[in-house]
Order: sequence, then C-alpha cells, then structure tokens
Amino acid sequence: MHCPFCRNADSRVVDSRTAEDGASIRRRRQCTACGRRFTTMEATSLSVIKRSGVTEEFSRSKVISGVRKACQGRPVEEDDLAKLAQTVEEAIRARGVAEIDADEVGLTILSPLRELDQVAYLRFASVYQGFESLEDFEEAIESLRAERDGRAAEKEF
Ligand SMILES: [Zn+2]
Repeated sequence: MHCPFCRNADSRVVDSRTAEDGASIRRRRQCTACGRRFTTMEATSLSVIKRSGVTEEFSRSKVISGVRKACQGRPVEEDDLAKLAQTVEEAIRARGVAEIDADEVGLTILSPLRELDQVAYLRFASVYQGFESLEDFEEAIESLRAERDGRAAEKEF
C-alpha cells in the first residue's frame, strides 16, 4: 500500500476497525516517510474449500450463478439474487472464519432462498441437502406448509 501523497511503500497502521458489513477492515495508516495519514479499506480474505480440495476466493457471483439455475422460470429478479448473495456473504463473514466448505456455503443459501421463492428453494435444497426420495421432498414441503400456516395464524391475531 503506497502512500497517496509521496508514493512511499511503507506505512504503519494507527487504527483498525471492521466495517459495518463485516466484509472489510478500515485502516488508518501513517506514512513512515512523510508522516501523513490516509485510510485504506481492505477486504478480509474468505476462502471456499471445494469438494475437490481446491480453495478459491469467496465470490458473490458464484453464489448467484448457483442459485440462478434453481430460479429458472420463477419470478425472481436479478436484484433479488444480488440481495440474496449479499445476505449469504454477510452471514458467512459474521462467523468470523477465514475458510468455509462449499457445502456450508450451499447450506447458508437455503434460508434466504426459502424466503425468496419456495419452488427455487426446493430445487436447490434437493441438491445441497441430498434429497434421495419423495419422502425428503414431502418433509421439506411439509415444513414449508407449517411455516406458511404459522404465518397465516400470526396475521389473524
Ligand atoms: Zn508519504
């Protein structure tokens, strides 16, 4: 990180704080050459460990492309997908881990996707939770129904 005033390469950190979204760290730095102060925003690293063992940097666009398939033909807008990916990233970063399994990312997607579109949720869940039979689908649908009925009951009171 070069000093924006004199281009010196060295600076020392005088203050660090996590940004509100939890995804980046705001650092107040002081140049060791000219003594002037400047602020940097640094994204904290978050790696996803794939089933193959390969790690890659977490990316919202990967979350979106994974979910988009499940949303085919559903009334889901690009904006909805962007918001969902943000929710997922914030939920994962809130755990404070530097690495996460790809499967965990998939599981983290389930809850906001369930809010977004129940059919897309069922499609996605069938892959990530490894639905193997009609009973698995029935159970998931039953749980969606119970939730819906619970909400309807709440509205009545
Ligand atoms: Zn400087």
